[in-house]
Amino acid sequence: MSDPPLHPDTLAVVAGRVPGDAGLSPPIATASTWASNGLDDAHARAVGVRADGFYSRYANPTVRAFEQAIAALEGAEASLASASGMGALASTVFALCSSGDHVVAQRQLYAGTLALLQGPCQRMGIDVTFVDAATPGAFTAAVQPGRTMLVLAESPSNPRLELVDLDELGAIQGPFTLVDATFATPIGQRPLGHGVDLVLHSATKGIAGHNDATLGVVSGERELLDAIWGYAVLHGATPSPFDAHHALRGLRTLPVRYERQCATACTIAAALAGNEALAEVLHPSLPSHPQHELAARQLPSGGTMVALDLRGGRDAARRFLAALRVARVATSLGGPDTLVCHPATSTHASLTPAEQEATGVTEGLLRVSVGLEHPDDLVRDLHAALDAAGHS
Ligand SMILES: *Cc1c(COP(=O)(O)O)cnc(C)c1O
Repeated sequence: MSDPPLHPDTLAVVAGRVPGDAGLSPPIATASTWASNGLDDAHARAVGVRADGFYSRYANPTVRAFEQAIAALEGAEASLASASGMGALASTVFALCSSGDHVVAQRQLYAGTLALLQGPCQRMGIDVTFVDAATPGAFTAAVQPGRTMLVLAESPSNPRLELVDLDELGAIQGPFTLVDATFATPIGQRPLGHGVDLVLHSATKGIAGHNDATLGVVSGERELLDAIWGYAVLHGATPSPFDAHHALRGLRTLPVRYERQCATACTIAAALAGNEALAEVLHPSLPSHPQHELAARQLPSGGTMVALDLRGGRDAARRFLAALRVARVATSLGGPDTLVCHPATSTHASLTPAEQEATGVTEGLLRVSVGLEHPDDLVRDLHAALDAAGHS
């Protein structure tokens, strides 16, 4: 009888160990190039797919250890790391899509992804249709058979924590399906288990988890990842072995950090729900979340992010941010510090007013990335900031 599969908590600790290396922290391979044993050896490495011991843009042992750990957690055959989440996204989109191809994408997305799809993609003749992910069947209906090459979703989405039905996405035949699962981390949900082809993360966020690395990673079947790699080595968003090392160290504690941050996010959401200064509190754990039932099926932890919509608009948001004493005003997410940002003027400032309205980025919307501080300190801090926001 074979052993039962390891739990994610265990995989996060044991995956990505380098065979034969007894060190419990992997060496950082700083070499940009490696010496070969003559012409034939050098030739084999030069033409190999993701061959070791050739040149660091092609493959690096520290980066590989990180990739193998992520692949194990995702239940994927292979992973490919990039210098950032956007590096992973751009490499994937341009590896798979050519001029004349069509992409179906969610309307509510990380603003960098949206800008990539609206700017460079359109300029290169890649046509994009945006859909409302919360409408059942929207992705499937927008697919143009024979022309759509990629269906791109984000779940939970930035900034209003909209969920995509992963079973519905995974059932789409024809185009490649990709989920940016940054907000859920590989611990919160596993899109590949729902039949999705590719799962992508900005490892800058919860995976590395300490605000000290910039990295991206995409996972799926080996053959598909090899094809993306063939383009990624030319795109050149090559991950640094130092960042891969930081991200792998962060990954070891991701399950405990994630669990604690989710629990605190649920506490905060419940404590603030119904506050009269707020038009809306958004967290998948709340029965008021429009996709609460879907969340129970595919994101039972609820996630580490909370969105708050202040009644008083931008002025109230300004007062709220000025009154915070524990949480910090910053973009990014998934680190030890609780971070609050005002999407309309920061992460989503590049959107037109019409786009902001279409994606629910209101003037009063705040996005909270819940950290590792004591929940009581955070609830008190947020309540005090709400009091300040309510009084002009
Ligand atoms: C941050 C983020 C990205 C981009 O990642 P970088 O590492 O900053 O390039 C993409 N998608 C989501 C959901 C993100 O939060």
